[in-house]
Amino acid sequence: MDRYAVVGNPIAHSLSPRIHRLFAEQTGQVLGYEAILAPRDGFAATVNDFRQAGGRGLNVTLPFKQEAFALADTLSGRARAAGAVNTLIFHADGSRDGDNTDGTGLINDLTGNLCLSATGRSVLILGAGGAVRGILAPLLSLRPAQVVIANRTPARAHELARRFASLGPVDGRGFDALDGRFFDLIVNGTSAGLDGAVPDIPDSVLAPGGACYDMVYAAEPTPFVRWARARGAAVAADGLGMLVEQAAESFLLWRGLRPDTAPVIRALRP
Ligand code: NAP
Repeated sequence: MDRYAVVGNPIAHSLSPRIHRLFAEQTGQVLGYEAILAPRDGFAATVNDFRQAGGRGLNVTLPFKQEAFALADTLSGRARAAGAVNTLIFHADGSRDGDNTDGTGLINDLTGNLCLSATGRSVLILGAGGAVRGILAPLLSLRPAQVVIANRTPARAHELARRFASLGPVDGRGFDALDGRFFDLIVNGTSAGLDGAVPDIPDSVLAPGGACYDMVYAAEPTPFVRWARARGAAVAADGLGMLVEQAAESFLLWRGLRPDTAPVIRALRP
């Protein structure tokens, strides 16, 4: 049986094994998918052991996406833009392709599942870490009117904006420089929600009828989803759809088939 896995640390919470088993059932593919806990200093060895034991591909999650980038023999354009790899594909000759499906996953959830358009809209991205870097190229390809990256550490937002400036109208700033601005779509790409917090942004940043998206997901509404609902957002979604969509892109890379994501999102939604 072809074997796949997700590697991270921690990993026990991962929904990926369930998602890929549902994809396999739906498409009639015979494969195994497990979760592997790699020691913080043992990512490369874990990858090699899995590949030598016949593994065909891996998903990579925190904190190893940059290490996977360095380990890949070839990189897709998406992985290069993101500076990180979340999908490894192993070939019979031992070589490893690296790709990144996170950004496509977000865009597919926003535009396909939630019917939210970014084209011609003003978009605020909260955060300037690895996840935000991964979504900027696909987001800018939708030709928004403007993208503002706001981060707790403003220098990181400035740096990301500089890096992606050739792809569209994007600028970076701190949360305190959002006064008087409002946006049609706000995407939270910070990990503040994991501590039960919401980035320190003015209440007025959400335009009337605007939508909010939290890349974090949880069984309960996340703090940012609650923030959005309390301010009358037309849509307030968490990142479960993104998780399933990025998994579907990985499945496509490995198996050449794109599973239907809607029933899987429904099955996972508490
Ligand atoms: P990261 O590289 O560690 O970046 C974390 C970001 O969050 C930084 O911008 C950091 O700001 C900010 N931050 C952390 N605590 C904060 C707080 N209390 N208030 C305001 N900002 C805070 O992490 P990442 O890889 O980008 O991941 C970010 C989140 O996206 C994670 O929660 C992850 O689970 C989620 N994610 C979801 C999916 C999905 O499929 N749904 C995929 C990828 C990632 P500073 O720069 O100031 O430190």
